[in-house]
Amino acid sequence: MTAQLSVIVPVYNESETLPQFHSRVMAVLDALNMPADLLYVDDGSDDGSSDWLDAQQVADARVAVLRLSRNFGKEAAMSAGFDYASGDAVVVIDADLQDPPELIPTLIEHWRAGFDVVYATRESRQGESWFKRQSAALFYRLMDRLSDVPIPRDTGDFRLLSRRAVDALAKLREQHRYMKGLYAWIGYPQKAVPYAREARASGRSKWSYWRLWNLALEGITSFSAAPLKLATWLGLFTSVIAFAYGLFFLLRTLFFGNPVPGYPSLMVVILFLGGVQLVCLGIIGEYLARTYNESKARQLYFVMDYRPGGKMRPRQAV
Ligand code: UDP
Ligand code: MG
Repeated sequence: MTAQLSVIVPVYNESETLPQFHSRVMAVLDALNMPADLLYVDDGSDDGSSDWLDAQQVADARVAVLRLSRNFGKEAAMSAGFDYASGDAVVVIDADLQDPPELIPTLIEHWRAGFDVVYATRESRQGESWFKRQSAALFYRLMDRLSDVPIPRDTGDFRLLSRRAVDALAKLREQHRYMKGLYAWIGYPQKAVPYAREARASGRSKWSYWRLWNLALEGITSFSAAPLKLATWLGLFTSVIAFAYGLFFLLRTLFFGNPVPGYPSLMVVILFLGGVQLVCLGIIGEYLARTYNESKARQLYFVMDYRPGGKMRPRQAV
């Protein structure tokens, strides 16, 4: 049997870009030298994207639509895509045209050469502010330090995965899905392909700074327990200083008497220690909340509707 490619596209309210995206990606698939299907994962869109996708599914036998029961977020939508995609190689691509579909043949070439994960690395970040670029750089540096597996920088979700990489990924069912980390964690031969990332074609990114901050927290807490250790060291450090300070006061009182001048220093110490304790409690809280979420072991997503493409291979259970 000839190898087949599946392309997964998570979609959340992309009605403005979808027509352009669809024609570009279809042009690429038409020119491929292997059969391909396109799986749109509709992540609870409410802007008309859903109807448009259904129409494409009816019009073209290569197009499938998987509709989730609500908006679960991009990571869950991609996981749903991995569960339903049947291809021997699977490409994940954003619908907003920030990932050029024209790169897919290059990804396939490297996959044919034996790589299991072929990821596209941004060479330039157009349409992004200085602050966003700087904070991203800082984050990547921090992750390099903290995480056990090397997580490639300037890499989004745009990539190709081999069947065994997809199956491996499908076995990781954690709730807190820091995908960039998970792709690296599964191992297998990986290969970077540089490309120029474009600014969004239209609409706006759903990633506010608040969500990016949360994504960064997700990345760090999912792949490193270093902050917990930091809390321990911070506690130890301040205790030692507090002890030395206490000893100093004791000796001074013993040798020079006590004229009671201590109020400011007392306040400083109390406030400082209080602050350190709250920060450490917060760090523990971040991990505890995640442990709590994982312990519920909820399903990652629910499917409302699955419309397979007429030309798709039936999905094999993993
Ligand atoms: N997306 C999704 N669910 C969400 C948010 C986004 O499926 O809750 C999709 C979105 O439609 C797009 C891709 O994920 O295809 C990337 O989204 P976005 O451009 O907002 O993220 P960014 O490119 O800024 O990382
Ligand atoms: Mg985008």
